[in-house]
Amino acid sequence: MTDTRSDLLDILTASLGAQQVIRDPDAMESYLVEERRLYRGAALAVVRPGSTEEVALVVRECAKAGVAIVPQGGNTGLVGGGVPYDGIVLSLARLDRIREVDAFNATITVEAGCILKAVQDEAEKVDCLFPLSLASEGSCRIGGNIATNAGGVNVLRYGNTRDLVLGLEVVLADGRIWNGLKGLRKDNMGYDLKNLFVGSEGTLGIVTAAVLTLFPRPKSRTVAFIGCASPHATLDLFDRLRRRTGDQLTAFEFMPRFALEIVLKHAAGAVPPLGGWHEAYALIELSSPDPAIDLRERIEAVLSEALEAGIVEDAVIAASEAQGEALWHLRESLSHVQRLEGGSIKHDVAVPVSKVADFIVTATRACEEALPGVRVCAFGHFGDGNIHFNLSQPVAMEKAAFLAQWERFNRIVHDIVHDMNGSISAEHGVGLIKRDELVLYKDPVALDLMRTLKSALDPQNILNPGKVLTLEAELPPAL
Ligand code: FAD
Repeated sequence: MTDTRSDLLDILTASLGAQQVIRDPDAMESYLVEERRLYRGAALAVVRPGSTEEVALVVRECAKAGVAIVPQGGNTGLVGGGVPYDGIVLSLARLDRIREVDAFNATITVEAGCILKAVQDEAEKVDCLFPLSLASEGSCRIGGNIATNAGGVNVLRYGNTRDLVLGLEVVLADGRIWNGLKGLRKDNMGYDLKNLFVGSEGTLGIVTAAVLTLFPRPKSRTVAFIGCASPHATLDLFDRLRRRTGDQLTAFEFMPRFALEIVLKHAAGAVPPLGGWHEAYALIELSSPDPAIDLRERIEAVLSEALEAGIVEDAVIAASEAQGEALWHLRESLSHVQRLEGGSIKHDVAVPVSKVADFIVTATRACEEALPGVRVCAFGHFGDGNIHFNLSQPVAMEKAAFLAQWERFNRIVHDIVHDMNGSISAEHGVGLIKRDELVLYKDPVALDLMRTLKSALDPQNILNPGKVLTLEAELPPAL
């Protein structure tokens, strides 16, 4: 280690205390690998500041020493964005205070290290809902949610994380603190700076706190599982439901037949929801803050019309909270059970909702033609156009031989997405895994603007370098 680097660690240790500058390889281990074990990184140390001022101090000292900083929340990201390959990991975990709950303004001000579930629980105490909800909510942190513009199952009704952020506090690359913690619904005092940092994956600044928006807590909820003849029939059903139920439609998730087959084969406690088999399934949820509203009646009305029109083939409406949970269990088990079917090649993409059925049909056909026997598992947030277009290996094929074709399938699937004016990164972000794909599919002018912003806000390129985009001089070594 050069003198400057070891001096840096000494300065940080003297300022934060030895316990907050972790150098022991065993203690650093969990910060160096990511959730799916696709990447393993290396770092000089893991630094754990306990306040915004301490974050600013760490950034100032790193800037002086020219050392890279990789911010990390819960390290549940799936694109390698939080994996360091040099420099320090800056863990936000100790910034975990709820600073203020303002029930009348319907806002909560939280520090970046708050676990998402803790924010949801805090909102519930004032009879409100913080609607961001992901399967990782017990371990991901708000700063990470903001940095990745996380989505989840409630986007259809409440939007992405971006739509839930009213204000931010950010430590900039030179160590200055930008206090943008305003809980305003209207603020036209110049550029909307907060939206630069949402989804920037730690490359433009370190989020230390946020003002988030709250909603009335739903008091009634109805869940239904519906069998349709095809993805196009499912789209027709979605359109009817949306027109009839407006923003009571909180979730509209899609599963193909193959997905339900493997869930019923592997998932503990999974029970067939309907009598026969159908090509496409929708899991829908309606909710309302009005406890007196009869949501079941509303769903029944739409479903009986859709049955008559031949759009829906069969359906079950949950008769109890427990049955609703059991129906959601079918959808939520899907990521896990796919692993039990061997290797899978994953694409997380979005197309306009009007094209979502076309996309599923076209991409499925193209992949099946490219590799006979490949099992397409295209599921997800149909109602907001976000499909997890995953491929399970052919039964008789070696896993490694299948995974070696990832690049080839990227081209097939991403080209179709691009032709439909879609996005190759709907959730999770770009990180390392999609960085080079971005260059192929992002508008060159937009890429140029992104590089301009990066150079302006982080001229030394010390904030999460090599993630999302590369500047010419700093390609990271392969991990
Ligand atoms: P980390 O993994 O620690 O970091 C993610 C990125 O944000 C990195 O680039 C990091 O450098 C940066 N970062 C972290 N904190 C800060 C900060 N304070 N300031 C600046 N940059 C920062 N994602 C979805 O969008 N939708 C889903 O439905 C979803 N489901 C998931 C289910 C499971 C089981 C798992 C494991 C993951 C899932 N994810 C999902 C991915 C992941 O949970 C989200 O991306 C989450 O928002 C990451 O939060 P984190 O605190 O773990 O961030």
